[in-house]
Amino acid sequence: MATTDRQATTLALAHALSAAERGLAVIPLSRTKLPALRSPHRSSDHTPNQPSNRSSHHDAPEPAAPPCRGECGRPGHGVYDATADPARIRELFTAAPWATGYGIACGLPPHRLIGIDLDVKSGTDSTSALRELALRHLFTIPPTVVVLTPSGGRHIWLTGPPDAVIPNSASRLAPGIDIRGAGGYLVGPGSRTDHGVYATAPGTEHLVPAPCPPSLLRLLLPPPRAPHPATHPSVGNRGQGLVQFVLAAHEGQRNTRLFWAACRAYENGIGRALRAPLIDAAVHTGLTEHEARATIASAARMTGHRP
Ligand SMILES: [Zn+2]
Repeated sequence: MATTDRQATTLALAHALSAAERGLAVIPLSRTKLPALRSPHRSSDHTPNQPSNRSSHHDAPEPAAPPCRGECGRPGHGVYDATADPARIRELFTAAPWATGYGIACGLPPHRLIGIDLDVKSGTDSTSALRELALRHLFTIPPTVVVLTPSGGRHIWLTGPPDAVIPNSASRLAPGIDIRGAGGYLVGPGSRTDHGVYATAPGTEHLVPAPCPPSLLRLLLPPPRAPHPATHPSVGNRGQGLVQFVLAAHEGQRNTRLFWAACRAYENGIGRALRAPLIDAAVHTGLTEHEARATIASAARMTGHRP
């Protein structure tokens, strides 16, 4: 209903303004959690989702036209529209009266927000996975803002140091743990989406986002590229760690863990060397050899390797 939508927009704007008061830069979001404002550069003859336009796809960005990140002065550049200026926020919401939520840009000063997005979809136990990481790498998540998602997930808000650029990642740390960093955004508390309302976890609404613990920060930084896998000194330990990670899988997480470990192995140039130990470990947890081989093969393809 139109009235309800208008109320949702007013409410979202109010929440967005209060986030901005805390120094957070925001953009209006639609019910689908996507930026509410369309790109002003999208012409009607370019619809990337239509298969008929496949011939116009290029592997490399067009050299002639660097992507506009708002330099044109018009709104509609996704997270690049993000602002903490109340007047500008009102303008963005006026331009997007269908907005029912707002996104908070990560990685921007002064907070340099990092979002630890704990997913509960596809049977992954991301909360245990985070606990396990914390035990292994000796960090504790400090008291900080936590936002509950309509699907039962959680966003843990942390802040980063000025000299680090934290990339976005999906399930790189562990299955079901996504990281929102530079260029990413978090759905702000008070946002309404198709799936429900995002809300601050009770007791955390008045906290300020806490600094990310250093040993967690190290895990969030981009993985160093091993120039020559065979001479990489930590391959042995790293490989052993991945095998242990698979061995410790409970039923229900065996396949996701194996997939995750195999992806990391291929990314680090030890995919081939670790294939047999990973298969052994997976069979030990109860997967069949056939299943294990198929999962590792798909991890190889996923990371651009020959299975
Ligand atoms: Zn532009």
